[in-house]
Amino acid sequence: MAKIIDGKLVSASIRASVADEVKALRENGICPTLAVILVGDDPASAVYVRNKQKACIETGIEPIQITLPKETTESELLSKIDELNRDSKIHGILVQLPLPEHISEEKVISKINPEKDVDAFTHESVGRIVEGKYSFLPCTPAGIMKLLEYYEIDVAGKECVVIGRSNIVGKPMALLLLNASGTVTVCHSKTKNLSEVTKRADILIVAVGKAKFVTADMVKEGAVVVDVGINRMPDGKLAGDVDFDSVSSVASLLTPVPGGVGPMTIAMLMCNTVFAAKRAHNNKKA
Ligand code: NAD
Repeated sequence: MAKIIDGKLVSASIRASVADEVKALRENGICPTLAVILVGDDPASAVYVRNKQKACIETGIEPIQITLPKETTESELLSKIDELNRDSKIHGILVQLPLPEHISEEKVISKINPEKDVDAFTHESVGRIVEGKYSFLPCTPAGIMKLLEYYEIDVAGKECVVIGRSNIVGKPMALLLLNASGTVTVCHSKTKNLSEVTKRADILIVAVGKAKFVTADMVKEGAVVVDVGINRMPDGKLAGDVDFDSVSSVASLLTPVPGGVGPMTIAMLMCNTVFAAKRAHNNKKA
């Protein structure tokens, strides 16, 4: 049976050290502040935003929540971001995706000052990730790297297979594994003979968005399997992209859903916000 990679445990220890750092910063008059913008009333987005706010409060980060109606125009949203960019009290800006269809996500993300881009979605952040010279790392892939580090899984020289090539998860995940000297293959909806590729993986990262998509026959004996998927099942329960019950008999380590990658994403957002606050303070001093 696979050992469980416990994202709740690891994320709690990260949040505790963030809380210590925030306490020390506050004692020096610096109050790390994260602005989260939610446009519209998508229920899933509202839950994600609430969880981010809760994590801020728990770690001592000041959360500023900006909720805008779904009729908000693109130019109104861009002006709001401009205002937050200029506000020196705001250290991180996060726009909850997806946005309503009439607003260009690309334009909105590009508007965020890269110094405050705690999601690491701007062109500048992505370019830095490609070069391996990060300031911010995208939260989900960064959280996965932290999990691998915590469980002492050395990526160097390993066959790493990522299923999914989204800009948010798959592509940056592949780059982080590559920067850690893994031998990386990215699979996607057009990949032929998927299970032949996945069976080569020492480390398999699954970000497809289809419940229980990866089954035991697609996994090499002893592989480390990281399940990024969050799928709501008809009974209301959450399921990952990996068929946990069958894969746990083959994998050596496996993340559960919930309680695996999800809590790490939020913990990394807190880390990025504190980093942004410290950097803003140091830049002011310089
Ligand atoms: P996405 O829809 O943008 O990308 C899905 C990817 O899966 C695509 O690149 C596509 O090519 C690939 N794919 C689809 N069908 C395939 C198939 N049959 N074979 C191989 N590849 C296939 O999704 P995303 O934003 O990358 O998210 C993926 C999952 O991760 C979703 O369930 C999402 O909810 C979840 N997610 C979780 C977190 C977290 O914090 N845990 C964060 C982000 C996303």
